[in-house]
Amino acid sequence: MEHITHLINGESVKSEHTLAVTNPSTGEVIRQVAEGRREDVERAIAAAQAAFPAWRDTPPAKRAQVMYRFKQLLEDNAERLVQLVSEEHGKTPEDALGELKRGIENVEYACGVPELLKGEYSHNVGPGIDAWSNFQPLGVVAGITPFNFPAMVPLWMYPMAIACGNTFVLKPSEKDPSAAHAVAALLKEAGLPDGVMNVVHGGREAVETLLDAKAIKAISFVGSTPVAEAIYSRGTANGKRVQALGGAKNHAVVLPDADLENAANTLMGAAFGSCGERCMAISVAVCVGDETADRLVETLLPKIAALKVGPGTDKGLDMGPLVTAEHRDKVLGYIEEGVRSGAKLVADGRELTVKGHENGYFVGGCLFDHVKRDMRIYQEEIFGPVLCVVRVGSLDDAMQLINDHKYGNGTCLFTRDGEAARRFTDAIEVGMVGVNVPLPVPVAYHSFGGWKRSLFGDLHAYGPDSVRFYTRRKAVSQRWPSVSEATRAEFSFPANQN
Ligand code: NAD
Repeated sequence: MEHITHLINGESVKSEHTLAVTNPSTGEVIRQVAEGRREDVERAIAAAQAAFPAWRDTPPAKRAQVMYRFKQLLEDNAERLVQLVSEEHGKTPEDALGELKRGIENVEYACGVPELLKGEYSHNVGPGIDAWSNFQPLGVVAGITPFNFPAMVPLWMYPMAIACGNTFVLKPSEKDPSAAHAVAALLKEAGLPDGVMNVVHGGREAVETLLDAKAIKAISFVGSTPVAEAIYSRGTANGKRVQALGGAKNHAVVLPDADLENAANTLMGAAFGSCGERCMAISVAVCVGDETADRLVETLLPKIAALKVGPGTDKGLDMGPLVTAEHRDKVLGYIEEGVRSGAKLVADGRELTVKGHENGYFVGGCLFDHVKRDMRIYQEEIFGPVLCVVRVGSLDDAMQLINDHKYGNGTCLFTRDGEAARRFTDAIEVGMVGVNVPLPVPVAYHSFGGWKRSLFGDLHAYGPDSVRFYTRRKAVSQRWPSVSEATRAEFSFPANQN
């Protein structure tokens, strides 16, 4: 059986400890992945430390050239990468290609690093004094990534970190590690020196070694909120810069004037695409007025019944399986809990079976109506194909509901009313907002991040914030007095004011 190795200092490094990787469409173990122990992680960190001085001193334009070649290699290898994502995650090939393309956009942005690192310059800030700020790399930085975007989320991190002159250790999800591994392996072919990019697989022990290692200067984490919070507090207590992106409960508000057919169509993709395993998935539709709710439910029901569900490796489907048996059971548990707590399950996907794939982890589309704010299915992230309808009386009630929720990743408003849209975008306490755009994932040249318990740290992921996250500012003031110029001791604080 194929063994996915670590990638340390440009070499494949086997481990005697391994974890099973399963194809969620069949339930079969298809690969083994190395399970990184303390010594593996320390070896990767040492390789990254050794590679840092030369990489830091490599001109940004030369670092950018590696990113240009990397982008080309990603495009050339797209078919193989998509297959790895679909095989281990279970998302459809079309969806996997979408995530790869969004990942490549981050590489394209990193190609502009000479411009992004240009710094700031001021001539003559004082008599004969010039000042500038530049942005220097931090050293060795690390990334820890979730299962749900095995190709894209790592690409949010290391292209920019490396382009800025840092060296990197990545710990991908152990549930679907092949795509992250195969993507990172292309960097060697793109001409990246050995040791600049390293991949260590595994679970908690690997992560904790990264968190405690003195040499690691910054950590980017993406995953569930409890783990994000723990990573943030341990990493920052150890003196590291940390950004930790967590879970979500994303609401779409539907106003009575919205184009219902359009809203329902886009909601279907946003709620059930990738089987609901997206941190930006819409999991709550907040309908203003009972009539809006009745009409929306009526429009959604036949679309949910028509969802094409099957093995992630097949083309032309809407949805694959959930990622693991454990996760499927957790999602089923939430559905049962929702029924018990009195919500009305108007579309029930629990009994779905896929012919020929009876051991796959499939759950069909589910729709709950009359969900109340104190129910667990409303409060918690389910991360499955479950959409909840909450009925409210006004836009203000809808906004209050969203602002009261502990998560603040993404949200969307469906309306034709510009004034309502402006009020919503101004006052909603959520990091990423759409108007008639249910998945408002920012493009690579903006930055991605939620508010409240969806992000711990100050800076968002990728885009302009990532340049700031992966560098530290240095401000230099410089004066070259002529030898004849008289100087004298100045005891008062220097200022330009008269
Ligand atoms: P997860 O938190 O279980 O795992 C994320 C990473 O942390 C993995 O690499 C895993 O090995 C590691 N990990 C897990 N438990 C750990 C522990 N106790 N100690 C140290 N490391 C640990 O998340 P997941 O199930 O892989 O991904 C789904 C979650 O990620 C969802 O909550 C989703 O909302 C969130 N997510 C958020 C964003 C975002 O941008 N906000 C993006 C994608 C996914």
